[in-house]
Amino acid sequence: MEELHHWIDGQRVKGTSGRFTDVYNPATGEVQARTPLATTAELDKAIASAAEAQKGWAATNPQRRARVMMRFGQLINEHMDELAELVSREHGKTIPDGRGDVQRGLEVIEVCMGAPHMLKGEYTDDGGPGIDLYSMRQPLGVVAGIVPFNFPAMIPLWKMGPALVCGNAMILKPSERVPSVSLRLAELIKEAGLPDGVLQVVNGDKEVVDGILDNDTIQGVGFVGSTPIAQYIYGRACSNGKRAQCFGGAKNHMIIMPDADLDKAADALVGAGYGAAGERCMAVSVAVPVGKDTADALVEKLIPKVEALKVGPYTAGDDVDFGPVITGAARDRINGLVEKGVEEGATLAVDGRGFKLQGYENGFFVGPSLFDNVTPDMEIYKEEIFGPVLSQVRADTYDDALNLIMDNPYGNGVAIYTADGDTARDFAHKVNVGMVGINFPIPVPLSYHSFGGWKKSAFGDLNQYGPDAFKFYTRTKTVTARWFSGIKDAAEFNFKAMD
Ligand code: NAD
Repeated sequence: MEELHHWIDGQRVKGTSGRFTDVYNPATGEVQARTPLATTAELDKAIASAAEAQKGWAATNPQRRARVMMRFGQLINEHMDELAELVSREHGKTIPDGRGDVQRGLEVIEVCMGAPHMLKGEYTDDGGPGIDLYSMRQPLGVVAGIVPFNFPAMIPLWKMGPALVCGNAMILKPSERVPSVSLRLAELIKEAGLPDGVLQVVNGDKEVVDGILDNDTIQGVGFVGSTPIAQYIYGRACSNGKRAQCFGGAKNHMIIMPDADLDKAADALVGAGYGAAGERCMAVSVAVPVGKDTADALVEKLIPKVEALKVGPYTAGDDVDFGPVITGAARDRINGLVEKGVEEGATLAVDGRGFKLQGYENGFFVGPSLFDNVTPDMEIYKEEIFGPVLSQVRADTYDDALNLIMDNPYGNGVAIYTADGDTARDFAHKVNVGMVGINFPIPVPLSYHSFGGWKKSAFGDLNQYGPDAFKFYTRTKTVTARWFSGIKDAAEFNFKAMD
């Protein structure tokens, strides 16, 4: 079995703690590798050497740092197939989805190529008599990125690109369940010209995370994962004087108005609800049709589409719509929640429990489930299921649908399907959710905007990637300058007579 490593000072380093986490092949249920879990001592050493390396990197002008990103982007493109395979091998998602994972990360690296422009300061000429003001953006120093399992390439790239190009060093702590893509990206960015020590990949669990949060050298923490951990990390990082942005879980709704194109809405729901086995923070997990006729017609359209979904290993190629979930524990939890939904009285229109795939009986597969008549007090509504389960909550009016979403504690993404511009506009204006789709199911903003939810889906200010990231990963210094009159006024150029 492969023993994975850390990436410290530009090379692979074996773990010394003797503690490991198993990395599964989710399709077969077999353990394919072991991730070493670092001790605080291993972490502290990596941070100390990152702090040294950061000084030279920060002194490298932004244009040269951007050129490393250019070369890195080129290498990611050249290694696209290999990276997508690595994503799918540990996560279980299909190869096209694995490519999407890499692609959406690459797009953030592309924006980082424009860092010199993003890092330009501001200038006020003559703010007072003979007084000028200017501001500059300087790196924080050593920062940390702590990332989840569900996007093994995209989210590490969202963290490392902006942090590094701003002149910081980064300690990247990948999810212990899918560390190989982060380790490979570290090799590629070295090849692209990043000096050793500027990116350290330290694998670990809570011990390493707490070590990051308590280490005085770490100046900023970018976290993505579940809400309870996001809130915990935000609190501990802030109380230790670090800046932190911590993105959490979600429960994303889609309103379907009576005037919506129901075929398009149903297709969108199936893709956004079941793609990647529902393991996306922007997955749509709640459909909210407005009016009984809309709800009845929508569920009739959804049932055959959901029943037709093909579940299988990524190695089966195009013949698969989504793969297994990440662990056996995740599979059992999802099946348990479906069971609970039935007990609580929701209508199980498609039952994905007990799904077995011939030849992959020990894999972590979950069949797709579809619930109708779900109510907000039910566990399946309140929990982020993070699996291939879509719930239909019926609303009588547009206002009821809007209020349902407004009252939900999460606020990551939301969508509305309608043919009416006025409804869509009203919705986008009023809803208390960070990313809104209008006839668009998964509104992940493009990389030159920024990504972030509201309410319990994000803690801290400023979003990830795009313009906000350049603010998060730099501090502003503002200089007020006055020059007293000098040689221009006072110098004597004529030969003076002696009095
Ligand atoms: P997770 O919270 O279990 O783990 C995320 C990271 O935190 C991992 O690196 C993990 O090692 C670490 N961690 C876990 N438990 C910890 C603890 N007790 N103390 C300190 N660190 C700990 O999340 P996950 O299961 O890997 O990912 C799925 C979650 O991430 C879902 O809730 C999903 O919605 C969310 N997510 C959010 C976004 C977003 O941008 N809002 C994007 C992707 C995923």
